[in-house]
Amino acid sequence: MDYVGRFAPSPTGPLHFGSLVAALASWLDARAVGGRWILRMEDLDKPREQPGAADAILRQLDALGLTWDGPVLYQSRRETRYREALDRLVQAGLCYPCACSRREIADSALGIDGAHIYPGTCRAGLPPGRPARAVRVRTAGEPIRFVDRVQGDCVQDVEREVGDFVVMRADGLLAYQLAVVVDDFDQGVTDVVRGADLVDSTARQILLQRALGYPMPRYAHVPVAVNAAGEKLSKQTGAGAIDTAQAGPALARALVFLGQPPPFDLPPGELLPWARAHWEIRQVPRTRLRAAPAEC
Ligand code: GLU
Repeated sequence: MDYVGRFAPSPTGPLHFGSLVAALASWLDARAVGGRWILRMEDLDKPREQPGAADAILRQLDALGLTWDGPVLYQSRRETRYREALDRLVQAGLCYPCACSRREIADSALGIDGAHIYPGTCRAGLPPGRPARAVRVRTAGEPIRFVDRVQGDCVQDVEREVGDFVVMRADGLLAYQLAVVVDDFDQGVTDVVRGADLVDSTARQILLQRALGYPMPRYAHVPVAVNAAGEKLSKQTGAGAIDTAQAGPALARALVFLGQPPPFDLPPGELLPWARAHWEIRQVPRTRLRAAPAEC
């Protein structure tokens, strides 16, 4: 079985219920078929990183029994590789420099994930006297379709719904959308199982895979845990770190959230073996958002 799954946390804080759900779903989907499960630390965006969070996440996963294969890949060490991919896109004529500031784009319509749709200002060339800030990829063509194993049929017209998107940011960092595509390819990832907040990024990633000649992995986007105010659980919305001294209850709640309720009388140490043997992705609720249990 040549299944390769991955968990790719951003080290902006320790693992909380929301990120545990994504990690657990991806681990179970891989381990249920005897696949590999690898870990990638998405630490490109240094200003957003919380010191110590990457190590805390690794310790928490280990303590929960979510073991991974091989060394952890750190995005911050792979800049050369991302630049090579960017160069290929540039050489293929798929990119262009963009001088627009955030403020200049602020008047255009809001796109699918709440960001402004790029109006194409610099598509035909930089306005005279304006320096390039970012690099964008040209979007065009047929809408992108894919079948998500949880969310079902998905379709997005990237040009209309997102616009030409940034692959190198104004601060010089390579954008998440490009890094994730290069990493998934280099790591031989066959199956991406992650939170449904990223379902709207998937078409952009498929577009980049096609441009770079990479195969498309299978996708499964599991519901994102939201608090009583309907906000995604995160450090900013006050989600607490998973207490690994209470691994059993945390795993049991995450399993219930994923539509895989374990038997009541199962000892904590048997939760993962049970879940691995009984994992049914068809039972995962087909919704993008789901209320987190009150205790989280
Ligand atoms: N690093 C992203 C996050 O923590 C996940 C990226 C991915 O799974 O593709 O939200």
